[in-house]
Amino acid sequence: MRQALFILTLSIFAVPLVAAERQTLYEAALERAIIQFETARPRLPATVFGVDVETYHDALTLQRFSSRHWGGPVTVAPIIRAEATGSCGRYAAFVHLPPAEGAVQLVLCPQFFRPGSEALRVLTLLHEMVHVVAGADECRAMAFTALVEKQAMGRFTPADAYWRANDCEGSGFFLP
Ligand SMILES: [Zn+2]
Repeated sequence: MRQALFILTLSIFAVPLVAAERQTLYEAALERAIIQFETARPRLPATVFGVDVETYHDALTLQRFSSRHWGGPVTVAPIIRAEATGSCGRYAAFVHLPPAEGAVQLVLCPQFFRPGSEALRVLTLLHEMVHVVAGADECRAMAFTALVEKQAMGRFTPADAYWRANDCEGSGFFLP
């Protein structure tokens, strides 16, 4: 009986702790993504690959932006999912487009929080934020993110397989 009670107590405290940990990991990744983008920003033109850099900056750093693409003010609403169901069974993160009632949901899946994927989390946030401001095109999102990485760090995460899988060769977008 005492043991059962102990387990029950433990599970009550374990659940919110995991959620808090996810929130902390998300915030740490966002902070790093912002630093990386701010480092790259002076070396980016005002618009690149159809992405308005100022709008992207607002979306990433303020979670709100005024959008010519969506035609009005939009907020970014991060949603942390604990279950790898639905689209979370396939992706580390995804966004619901177009925005609904002035908000884009940025869904962060269990895969996003896997141990050892710190760099991937940063990359994923930079990538998803392109979708947030400029729409669903994967080639645009990859090209822009790779450019930000390149301008910030002098190198970018290899994306060849993903580039081919999305038929980006003839897209007009390109990797650095
Ligand atoms: Zn994408």
